[in-house]
Amino acid sequence: MSRAKRSLDWGFPRWRGYGSSREAAKVRLCDRHGCEEPGNCPAPKAPNSPERWYFCQRHAAEYNARWDYFEGLEKAEAEARERSESSEAAGYRSAAHYGWAAAGDGSRSADEMRALELLGLEGDADFETVKKAWRAKAKEVHPDVKPGDEDAAKAFQAYQVAYEVLRQAEERREWRG
Ligand SMILES: [Zn+2]
Repeated sequence: MSRAKRSLDWGFPRWRGYGSSREAAKVRLCDRHGCEEPGNCPAPKAPNSPERWYFCQRHAAEYNARWDYFEGLEKAEAEARERSESSEAAGYRSAAHYGWAAAGDGSRSADEMRALELLGLEGDADFETVKKAWRAKAKEVHPDVKPGDEDAAKAFQAYQVAYEVLRQAEERREWRG
């Protein structure tokens, strides 16, 4: 009976009865393709979006593990991904192979490339362009503009970190001449 019901569980969000067919016992399944664990770890899909992935602990850790430098950057990267990917499920899969360091002329670090990507810039953007992009992005999610918006606050924080990475890199380049 419950085995037969499973085939009805395709689609998003995925739900299934847990241990019984009673409505009250329904649990949400992990959004990772093919995973049958309960998805009880929400992960934001994009900045300023209330939408969440719901992963099991293992896949939430996998999702988060890709972001070890910028707190909150996964949201911005997810935004960039959603611009280029139409399918949500396919988006997560391809994002696992996303190569930050692949672009650019090789003179920038992977962190700089990530920061540029977050600001929506190419690898050859000069610092004036960086400053302009950062101001525009930060303005959109500034706490004064979106008070009490947790997602906006995190996006704002990510932009600050990205700008700081690029500013320090610019200074290092100037010292070197
Ligand atoms: Zn899972």
